Amino acid sequence: MKLPYAEPYRMKMVEAIHTSTRNEREKWIAEANYNLFNLPSSRVYIDLLTDSGTGAMSDRQWAAMMTGDESYAGALSFYRLKEQVEKIFGFEYFLPTHQGRAAENVLFSALVKPGDIIPGNSHFDTTKGHIEYRRATAVDCTVKEANDTRLELPFKGNVDCNALEEVLRSHPRDKIPFVCLTITNNTSGGQPVSMANMREVSALSKKYGVPLLIDSARFAENAYFIKTREREYSDKTIKEIVAEMYSHADMMTMSAKKDGVVNIGGFVALRDRELFRKVSVFSIMFEGFITYGGMSGRDMDALAVGLDENTEFEQLHARISQVGYLGKKLDEYGIPYQRPSGGHAIFVDAKQVLTSVPKEQFIAQTLGIELYLEGGIRAVEIGAILADRDPATRENRYPQLELLRLAVPRRSYTDNHMNYIAAALKNIYDRRNAITTGYRITYEAPIMRHFTVELAPVTPKI
Ligand SMILES: *Cc1c(COP(=O)(O)O)cnc(C)c1O
Repeated sequence: MKLPYAEPYRMKMVEAIHTSTRNEREKWIAEANYNLFNLPSSRVYIDLLTDSGTGAMSDRQWAAMMTGDESYAGALSFYRLKEQVEKIFGFEYFLPTHQGRAAENVLFSALVKPGDIIPGNSHFDTTKGHIEYRRATAVDCTVKEANDTRLELPFKGNVDCNALEEVLRSHPRDKIPFVCLTITNNTSGGQPVSMANMREVSALSKKYGVPLLIDSARFAENAYFIKTREREYSDKTIKEIVAEMYSHADMMTMSAKKDGVVNIGGFVALRDRELFRKVSVFSIMFEGFITYGGMSGRDMDALAVGLDENTEFEQLHARISQVGYLGKKLDEYGIPYQRPSGGHAIFVDAKQVLTSVPKEQFIAQTLGIELYLEGGIRAVEIGAILADRDPATRENRYPQLELLRLAVPRRSYTDNHMNYIAAALKNIYDRRNAITTGYRITYEAPIMRHFTVELAPVTPKI
């Protein structure tokens, strides 16, 4: 018989997590104003809010932390990380930042001005936030197949190159500071971008003289999908694939909290010396001196090791197989999700589950609250609350998809936890027709409202 996948590591330390009763959770979620971000983690049993900074570091990473050099300028930890970044991505210039959005902040401060247009594939929320905050516009050119959750396609994160070319052709060059390619495409369901698509996006960008930025949070998972789904890459190593991916790009922003498998950190990397000098000014202003940015020496060392470890096939195979395992359990129960299962998460298609809840009452958020009440599981809404209001009209934007993201932290939970999550979802799925009302907003911030939004049930549940 074919041997099943198993993790290429064993456990050396564990952390207690706690179950609770439904009564407790009903009280706690009301106290949290029905926003899962407001729950203390002690009130959560399985935390699938995000895979960002929530992974388990390896013994090698913890050992590397002890070698951290905390010099203000020129720390050896900086040079070790810089060398690893150059080896893996091929970029000569590198600036550490405290996380991904900080990388966006320092880079966009040098590049984005009011009235600019930034085409890409489903820009991540902080990326879009940093664009819109500078009164520029993010234009989504993701392939339209991404909107049909039932379609089983290998690269649903791809850019629609006709749409991209239309944007590039119809705007003056100085209005488009860069094309932003997000890998994997988080917002469309952790779906990968193919190497063929990257090649084409890069050629188009070059044709119009626009630099290509890769928003890189899950670059290694993307490389895994290229290896396993794009035939000509099946014999290449993850590191070879990553090198080729980045040969097409001019610069990258990275949230190291994802595929760097660290709890905090990020960076900007690029080829252009002049741009590096410009960006360095913003690094010093917002983050710190250019050899630490927002990071301590020990965190830079943990990241250098994390990047090396997580660009190995075995690691990625175990992780992505676990996400796939959760997907298969949901298949058994007939629960619809964005197909095929993504790299870091399963995105449950909330619109297909809660068919009676109106979109104005936040369908995916309603499902998220149900899942918390059912099993103490914390997931995150990728729907109308996240989509926020149109910056110009201030009208609510209702996206085509209402998804509930179950993000699986790296090396943290077992397949038994996956079974538990699937069972909780099945219980909700069995009683889905009884859920007919959702929630209304009682407070929201002017930008990125999902983090701090407060809600109330539309009909108080008795
Ligand atoms: C997480 C993420 C970011 C932002 O990074 P933070 O480390 O959370 O600030 C940007 N882009 C993508 C695609 C991400 O997944």
